[in-house]
Amino acid sequence: MKSLKNKTVVITGASSGIGEAMAREYAAAGARVVLGARNGAKLEQIAAEIRAQGGRAAWCAVDVTQPEECAALVRTAVDTFGSIDVLVCNAGISMRALFDDVELDVLHRLMDVNFWGTVNCCKYALPHLQASKGSIVGISSVAGLHGLPGRTGYSASKYAMTGFLETLRIENLKKGLHVMVACPGFTASNVRFAALTADGSQQGETPRDESKMMTPEEVARIVARGIRRRKRLCLMEAEGRATHFVKKFAPALLDRLFYWFMAKEPDSPFK
Ligand code: NDP
Repeated sequence: MKSLKNKTVVITGASSGIGEAMAREYAAAGARVVLGARNGAKLEQIAAEIRAQGGRAAWCAVDVTQPEECAALVRTAVDTFGSIDVLVCNAGISMRALFDDVELDVLHRLMDVNFWGTVNCCKYALPHLQASKGSIVGISSVAGLHGLPGRTGYSASKYAMTGFLETLRIENLKKGLHVMVACPGFTASNVRFAALTADGSQQGETPRDESKMMTPEEVARIVARGIRRRKRLCLMEAEGRATHFVKKFAPALLDRLFYWFMAKEPDSPFK
């Protein structure tokens, strides 16, 4: 794929953060974008702003944990633009609690949104992506490369996404389907504010300095480059590359580094 121009790109979690940045960036690059998330009012506003700037956008309010709503998102894309070239499974939530303390329902919710949301969208979009020899992109995380303490459910959901997507890639090896797992590191967004605590309530604040992180727009551009180059794995910054590299040669050292790095967070659930 030389560029995203005139390609139909379906993006889940497009009402905020990385998904919103992808929608705006890809539309500006000439793509026809289809936005999905639960907050329909926000999607409508983003789509209207994209159209006002000469872009092409459709939207569909969708809770990705509901298969029939994912089917409706895919239908919106096909009915509006006729085909699907790229599906970006980006909708996601995070958590912050030790496994000792966390209610099991929190881990179920993480799996429902991050893993099952990906599976649900892929199920309905797959025939269209096979027809276009298009791309499926899963927005995983550095936490999907190595376990992140205080985030058992989050890391597990991202590892599960990877296992699912890798298998999908192999099953479609002779059908021309491209499958990429993208692993951003810390990126300034709403994800930490919305992250679930041990009892399932939202954290409502961020324990980290959001101004020192990558921007969602930077992530969106790197993911677009990965799609154009049909990469398997998209690492974005030093922490992602270092994690990928050190894990191969010194995984026990990486355990210690991750412990040390995350224990430094204010109010860390472990010291
Ligand atoms: P945000 O919280 O800003 O955005 C999350 C998006 O997911 C929102 O649009 C939200 O929309 C949507 N979403 C949440 N639950 C559902 C649901 N049940 N159904 C449909 N949409 C849902 O976070 P980010 O932009 O940071 O996160 C995007 C992805 O990037 C996530 O998968 C996250 O794990 C990943 N990531 C983020 C990193 C970071 O540091 N920010 C680092 C690594 C990976 P709505 O509420 O309207 O449904």
